[in-house]
Amino acid sequence: MTARIREFLRQRNDDGPCLVVDLDVVRDNYQTFAKALPDTRVFYAVKANPAPEVLSLLAKLGSCFDAASVPEIEMVLAAGASADRISFGNTIKKERDIARAFALGVRLYALDCQAEAEKIARAAPGSRVFCRILSDCAGAEWPLSRKFGCEPAMAVDVLEHAHKLGLEAHGLSFHVGSQQRNPHAWDRALASAAGVFRECGERGLNLTMVNLGGGFPTKYLKNVPAVKTYGAAIFRALRRHFGNRIPETIIEPGRGMVGNAGIIEAEVVLVSKKSENDDVRWVYLDIGKFGGLAETMDESIRYPIRTPRDGGELGPCVLAGPTCDSADVLYEKQPYALPVSLEIGDKVLIEGTGAYTATYAAVGFNGFPPLKTVHI
Ligand SMILES: *Cc1c(COP(=O)(O)O)cnc(C)c1O
Repeated sequence: MTARIREFLRQRNDDGPCLVVDLDVVRDNYQTFAKALPDTRVFYAVKANPAPEVLSLLAKLGSCFDAASVPEIEMVLAAGASADRISFGNTIKKERDIARAFALGVRLYALDCQAEAEKIARAAPGSRVFCRILSDCAGAEWPLSRKFGCEPAMAVDVLEHAHKLGLEAHGLSFHVGSQQRNPHAWDRALASAAGVFRECGERGLNLTMVNLGGGFPTKYLKNVPAVKTYGAAIFRALRRHFGNRIPETIIEPGRGMVGNAGIIEAEVVLVSKKSENDDVRWVYLDIGKFGGLAETMDESIRYPIRTPRDGGELGPCVLAGPTCDSADVLYEKQPYALPVSLEIGDKVLIEGTGAYTATYAAVGFNGFPPLKTVHI
């Protein structure tokens, strides 16, 4: 926890869980990415934390943005970035939304099939497109499904089709899975990408860009490699597969840009057991899956939790949220070790919560308001 967050929490006296984000950490993270991948442009994945304070800070630092919807594009424009710094990176777009993005000045679009190329050609004529290819997400703690991307062999046809429709076949993208703890995960995807570049070249299409996606991790309970280790591994993979003809590259960090900048302060509402001789206690917090901790789904992301009683004896706990939905349990299959002296009313700190929390909070399930957020 940073000194600024500690000081803010010391003075805070309103009720309910609250996410506090330290913008200095976001600034450091941006600079770390810029330094680790010096020839790569950064397109911040807006969905990770679209707070105006984060967007305007990154706009000032020179970042570009990966937006997934027209409202995200509008938020980026409102934060002071021009439309030429925005990529409409969602492969699933209504044609009306493509037309609105085009009217707002966006000229860079993702796609993964011919039908989407046709929409873009009609609604955003002459724009640049990049085709997303499938990548296996081995090593990722939050793997992505086959929802986005196509097989590399199909990407060649998609890009050729886009070209025939008057679009500019700009390049490829992939995402190696979020919270990717293996810096070498980009190697295989870059091998496929180089194959698509060659195939396209043979058909007279000159691709120039590879979008390396996100996936850069935040430290939760386990340590993760430094960003510069990722930068070095990616550069070596580019050399290996593209030789002296390294394409223009971009990255789209989300979690890695903001995750470690945020902490949620929450409160213990109840500590109980299901029977007198149960070893496992149930600890209920005033935040759960519907209050912003959606990434505990399948217990994928395990957040570090600090309590005022750390240092004492630990015991296994099932951790749950405050709502009346029985799915609102954070960790149960793998119980969470917390101090046995933990009590009702204790404040706990949930670390690494700057990404994928506040905007996941429900608007008012069970009457609980969405997560409060403060950016300092
Ligand atoms: C969500 C997303 C990202 C960010 O992923 P992280 O793992 O949070 O870095 C990047 N690119 C695209 C297309 C995304 O959808």
